[in-house]
Amino acid sequence: MFYLLNIFIQMKILLNNTSLFESLRPFNDLGFVPTMGGIHKGHLSLINKSKKLCKKTIVSIFLNPKQFNNKKDLKSYPRNIKKDLQILKKSKNVDFVYLPKFNDIYEDNKKSKITINKKDKILCAKIRKGHFEGVLDVMNRLTKIINPDKIFMGEKDFQQLYLVKNFLKKKYKTKIISCRTIRGKNKIALSSRNFLLNSSSLNLAGKIYKKLKNIKQKINNKKDISDYLMYSKKKLEMSLKIKIDYLELRNIKNLKISKTKNNSRLFIAYYLNNVRLIDNL
Ligand code: AMP
Repeated sequence: MFYLLNIFIQMKILLNNTSLFESLRPFNDLGFVPTMGGIHKGHLSLINKSKKLCKKTIVSIFLNPKQFNNKKDLKSYPRNIKKDLQILKKSKNVDFVYLPKFNDIYEDNKKSKITINKKDKILCAKIRKGHFEGVLDVMNRLTKIINPDKIFMGEKDFQQLYLVKNFLKKKYKTKIISCRTIRGKNKIALSSRNFLLNSSSLNLAGKIYKKLKNIKQKINNKKDISDYLMYSKKKLEMSLKIKIDYLELRNIKNLKISKTKNNSRLFIAYYLNNVRLIDNL
């Protein structure tokens, strides 16, 4: 009975800002995990890290329409609040779940003036116009509302992590903690979008991971890495019949194109059944 009661009181659901401000007032040392729902083990790893490093952990579930440059993508994005809440509750590591409505975040109705520098318009920023402007806007608003000590974000979305970190450090004391990518069967990076894939697409994603690993292993022997990656991209597209937005080796400190494997990651964005997936290794 006490055990059940403990699970019950462990996670408080905050449906609006009034309830959020009241509930968070007594606490500092707050860890924050922003999500768009479709909770999976990748999200849970961020939550576990927050639980270890902070006194209280708050998770937000907010499907931010302003960061979707493609309406179809927003419409088909996996949503299942009931299931998400069950998973979060079962984890026993979440103190608060914030489920804001659009107006809780955008109540001032002010148009965002956030822009991305020309030098940062690379990788996804080059292809998904307006996406990161939307991400920075919502992260700015969430940070202002929640005022966490630490925010936990995944390296799976490396460019997002890089841009958010650089943006928030100019305005807030909040620290961004980067968390390693959690992979599932066949080493596929876990992602809410994987819920949209059938088993043959998931198998193909596993194959792509293996090929990427192989491509990266061979990189240091190549004279012209950009040329090698362009060739590898075409070869992957032809042999697996997939569309790839980019396949690039970039430095992890500044995201500049890299000429060596040191301090670098191989970044990819590709489509399986019209679902856009990203990874880096
Ligand atoms: P999302 O709900 O997709 O916006 O993701 C919320 C947070 O979880 C972001 O910081 C992501 O980078 C992180 N995340 C998503 N997938 C993974 C994963 N496979 N491993 C680690 N972190 C992840």
